[in-house]
Amino acid sequence: MGHPAIYDQIEKNRPGIARLKAQSVLTLLVAVCLSMAVIVIWQSWTSRQYHLHDKQVAMSNLAQTLASQAQASIKQADTLLFTLVNRLENDGIEGDRLDRLQRLMSAQRSELSQLHGLFVYDETGKWVANSNGAEVGVANNSDREYFIYHRDHPDRGPHIGPSIKSRSSGEWIMTVSRRVNHPDGSFAGVALATLYLTHFLQLYDSIDMGNNGVINLIADDASIIVRRPFKEADVGSSLAKSQLFTQLLPQASAGTGTVKSILDGVERVVGYRRVDGYPLIVFVALNKDEILASWRTESILSALIVSVLLAFLGVLGYRLIKSMQQQNRIQVELLGSQEKLLELNRNLELLALEDALTGLANRRQFDLFIQAETGRARRNQTGLALLMIDVDHFKAFNDHYGHLAGDACLRQIAAIITDHIKRPGDLAARFGGEEFSVVLPGTDYVGAFLVAEKVRRAVLAAGLQHNESPEGMITVSVGVCGYDPASETTTEELIGAADKALYVAKASGRNMSVIAN
Ligand code: GH3
Ligand code: MG
Ligand code: MG
Repeated sequence: MGHPAIYDQIEKNRPGIARLKAQSVLTLLVAVCLSMAVIVIWQSWTSRQYHLHDKQVAMSNLAQTLASQAQASIKQADTLLFTLVNRLENDGIEGDRLDRLQRLMSAQRSELSQLHGLFVYDETGKWVANSNGAEVGVANNSDREYFIYHRDHPDRGPHIGPSIKSRSSGEWIMTVSRRVNHPDGSFAGVALATLYLTHFLQLYDSIDMGNNGVINLIADDASIIVRRPFKEADVGSSLAKSQLFTQLLPQASAGTGTVKSILDGVERVVGYRRVDGYPLIVFVALNKDEILASWRTESILSALIVSVLLAFLGVLGYRLIKSMQQQNRIQVELLGSQEKLLELNRNLELLALEDALTGLANRRQFDLFIQAETGRARRNQTGLALLMIDVDHFKAFNDHYGHLAGDACLRQIAAIITDHIKRPGDLAARFGGEEFSVVLPGTDYVGAFLVAEKVRRAVLAAGLQHNESPEGMITVSVGVCGYDPASETTTEELIGAADKALYVAKASGRNMSVIAN
């Protein structure tokens, strides 16, 4: 009692609120973990892209540099070829001119370190002159690719053929050749410059390309001129089916990308560029796995750190949620106990105000009630009446029928009284023993007498057998007293007056109602 409804609401909702809190913590935890994971993955991905892009730029720059170097090296030899062809076509090779030409070629050769040799062949492939001083006229090179090419192609530009092993020195060489014409434009032979492949390889080997990096100098027809790392078997093999020739070069003459090698199957980050003025392509490539090795270590490390953090967070969150759940359980249990206590309290309060045998108000409640009602009647100047009802010859009933039958009889009489108290403001109480009292607020003694008579007659009509009574059945006597609000009468005096009227009723033969005067 005295427990406002709003608190009941809060108490009822508390377990729900607590569950909500635990859920919010769980949601927050999951959100934090997910965000961290997403951030790490995103960061790792960005870093990977950066690593790759960085190397692509490096490869592009390297391709540019090596293309310039190749162009410069070949151009020097090609310039010599160009003047040699001019000389041959204008002066011819008769007489001592051949000797002079031979000396000139030897001198020119020693000027250029990359130059392996300068050679001239006539239209049959026979050696006419060479810079290396070897015997002329023995060897025939009409079977070489460059010879066949120039014989069959009238164009006057430089031609770069497949790399070959020199017949004169046994070394790997690159060939740059030009066609020599007769005055009538027909094929007169070939002027050939050979360049050491080691000239290129030395440079390529000095560049840090990791363990599995590649530098290729490739002819326009997709055959490999020189490749680092150098393997004799690679020289001349065709890259026509590689992504460089199928995808990259058709799009742009220089660029970068990621390609899978058709030679060794390794995926590489590449840069490539056509060499200006020559049918050559420089191709440089770093092993993608090697590029990403440091990134991978970095990523694994940060993933490990984040995993440890997440695990720590998870354990912390798990314990937090567990303790919250425990708290919730305790709270629910406490609420349950509180609920039980409140129920118990309510029962106690009822017990304290209720008569256990009859269920009517007890003497305590009667005292409080009549005190309050006389006060109200005085303030409001309204009427108030009191009935005192006593069972006749009840001692004899008890003696004859036993105490338990007496109790049952008292309960029946209480029920009859309750049945006849109709107004909500009225109160029927067990005054004590076999005596009942009824407070009738707003009622004068006339109205009260009518109620008294109704009760008395109803008890009689109930026909509760009482052989020890002159009537042969249970009867009650009633004292009726009206309260005058204008008077100074106290509650005790009111009760006394009703009692007196009851006494008169008893004295007058019982089974009757008497109004106090
Ligand atoms: P009267 O007609 O003058 O009222 O005679 P009475 O016998 O009713 O009056 P008395 O005061 O002499 O006896 C009251 C009896 O009521 C005494 C007791 O045995 C009985 N009594 C009182 N309280 C209870 C109760 O709670 N249960 C039972 N069974 N009997 C009770
Ligand atoms: Mg009595
Ligand atoms: Mg009695």
